[in-house]
Amino acid sequence: MGMMKRILVDMDGVLADVYHRFFELHESETGSVLTFDDIIGLKEGEAFPGLARWVDTPGFFRTIPVMAGSQRVLKLLNEKFDIVVVSMATEFPASLTDKQLWLNDNFPFITWRQIVFCGNKNIIQADIMIDDHLKNLDNFKGETIMFIQPHNMNLKNTPHRRADSWEEIEKLLLS
Ligand SMILES: [Mg+2]
Repeated sequence: MGMMKRILVDMDGVLADVYHRFFELHESETGSVLTFDDIIGLKEGEAFPGLARWVDTPGFFRTIPVMAGSQRVLKLLNEKFDIVVVSMATEFPASLTDKQLWLNDNFPFITWRQIVFCGNKNIIQADIMIDDHLKNLDNFKGETIMFIQPHNMNLKNTPHRRADSWEEIEKLLLS
């Protein structure tokens, strides 16, 4: 058996449905309801004025909903690939423990050896990257899959394959 290909899997906007929580918090703090269509093409911080404060609050990353389909598909991928979950978490020191405990709760088959919290994903070698941000995808040397979120939905002319769900990732990598 050859070496398994290594896949870097992002957390926020890929495994963790952060937008779900952003919408809830925006409504509870401002009383106004934002919809998906209101924020297409906007950066997260432009769409949600409270975001910088939210992500720096201890506990925020502990209760983010899991992205639909991600548990089932990542478990399948984990049998055929060398999966590494990578998050630029050191930007938010309060997030480190929250994120690791969240992974333990929701993706118990991902061991502590498969988790990298960093400030720069370009230093990590792998074959495939699944991420929602161009700042990570554009600098990656291997295959790239852009997970579609409101902020990147309008970006059509990129070299990255697009996936708007974990079912799409399953089709791209397991069929
Ligand atoms: Mg992300």
